[in-house]
Amino acid sequence: MAFKEKPSVYLVTRPSVDWESVAIFFQDEDVPPIPDTIRAGDDESAAVVEISARMCYMSYGRGRRDITDFINNLLSSKDGSVFEHVNYGFVITGVSRSLTHELVRHRAGFAYSQRSQRYVDETEGTFVVPPALLKNRKGAETAREILDEALQSASASYKKLVEALEESLPRDLFELNTDRRKAIRQAARSVLPNATETKIFVTANVRALRHFFEMRGAVYADWEIRYLAIEMLKIMREEAPLLFGDFTITDLPDGTQIAEPQYSKV
Ligand SMILES: Cc1cc2nc3c(=O)[nH]c(=O)nc-3n(C[C@H](O)[C@H](O)[C@H](O)COP(=O)(O)OP(=O)(O)OC[C@H]3O[C@@H](n4cnc5c(N)ncnc54)[C@H](O)[C@@H]3O)c2cc1C
Repeated sequence: MAFKEKPSVYLVTRPSVDWESVAIFFQDEDVPPIPDTIRAGDDESAAVVEISARMCYMSYGRGRRDITDFINNLLSSKDGSVFEHVNYGFVITGVSRSLTHELVRHRAGFAYSQRSQRYVDETEGTFVVPPALLKNRKGAETAREILDEALQSASASYKKLVEALEESLPRDLFELNTDRRKAIRQAARSVLPNATETKIFVTANVRALRHFFEMRGAVYADWEIRYLAIEMLKIMREEAPLLFGDFTITDLPDGTQIAEPQYSKV
């Protein structure tokens, strides 16, 4: 039995612009060449937002002082749909099944692929320790012992169920051995707790991500998903500061953090 205390977050996909195609489009439409301001440094996310937003008025090359003004104006006027063109993909590991159950409630603009408990064996189970029970938390020792005992017991029951079903489940019910293994695991997983570790690939657009960070970065959110949301936000603030730079992260006396945007749900 192994424990995970913190999630790992990997940003694995990001937007890119085909500048040659954009230039041809501008030429075909007889609009001015790409202004430097559209290219906001190496981060192409703001350029995607600007190119899509300017489509509405065919206003390429006109107006605004700088790209920051342009983006903040979209955020403050809640022109949220243009942020849907910018997508990022994350691999997330070391999170509990209870966290991912909350995560997948975020429907609009999100895509998920999660490790299956039917295909993947959980005999060598890994479990996620809820933040309140981390060993460095004062007074967590007794609660942690209770958790460890419950997880040991669940893990042992899972193994015993797998063994019992290996013995008893008739082979002739299944055409393929893989289907039989799946049937065994899908039954045995009924005793696995919410703390069971899982891995998930999450793709989301900027509008959806901002909403997720606002809801799950709030003080009302569960500590585990709040920690994850803020870790993802920190990555996004580095990656696309113009699109996430209005969020403030604050330390709380209980050792956790919260995140609040200047521009609420767009
Ligand atoms: C602190 C906290 C506590 C919670 N407690 C509970 C709980 O006890 N029980 C529970 O069931 N859930 C609970 N939730 C989950 C919550 O109700 C939402 O399901 C979840 O946060 C996803 O939010 P969302 O629907 O806004 O997001 P998304 O599904 O990503 O939707 C984003 C936005 O798109 C729009 N939208 C999406 N789908 C529709 C639709 N079908 N029709 C109209 N508009 C739509 C809405 O404006 C929505 O806000 C909790 C969430 C938080 C943050």
